[in-house]
Amino acid sequence: MTAAEERTRFAADSMLGSLARWLRMLGYDTAYQKDLDDGALVQLARDEKRRILTRDRLLSKQPDSIYIESDDLDSQLRLVNEACELVFDEAEIRCSACNGDLAEVAKGEIEDQVPKGAFDSNDRFWKCADCGKIYWRGSHWLGILERFRKLNLA
Ligand SMILES: [Zn+2]
Repeated sequence: MTAAEERTRFAADSMLGSLARWLRMLGYDTAYQKDLDDGALVQLARDEKRRILTRDRLLSKQPDSIYIESDDLDSQLRLVNEACELVFDEAEIRCSACNGDLAEVAKGEIEDQVPKGAFDSNDRFWKCADCGKIYWRGSHWLGILERFRKLNLA
């Protein structure tokens, strides 16, 4: 079993879009579909062995689910961290937009797909295997890391 397989996988309910994006950036496989109803979410979690994250007290009675009482993102991350210790893993970062796998791409391949400033000031780029979004470590990424550190997740 690889480290990736041991990491908790989540399925977030429709109220938790921001939390889902941040968990993906921390390196957690987090399913999130805005239009999924409760029944479908429970089924997805069961089929894919994911822990449900929910703001719905009733839904949180499902086995292994985590009730997210707060609507504040930092508090939400703390709640998930208390339930199952979160550890930032750079190698596991997923596409924040769609939860796809990111793979490093050669700089030459993406020159016409990123802003010139980003291209000129970065040497490493990653591409989502599912939606094709390109990532690099700009100033926004430093802000994200800072938030992880403040929450003691990195
Ligand atoms: Zn993607």
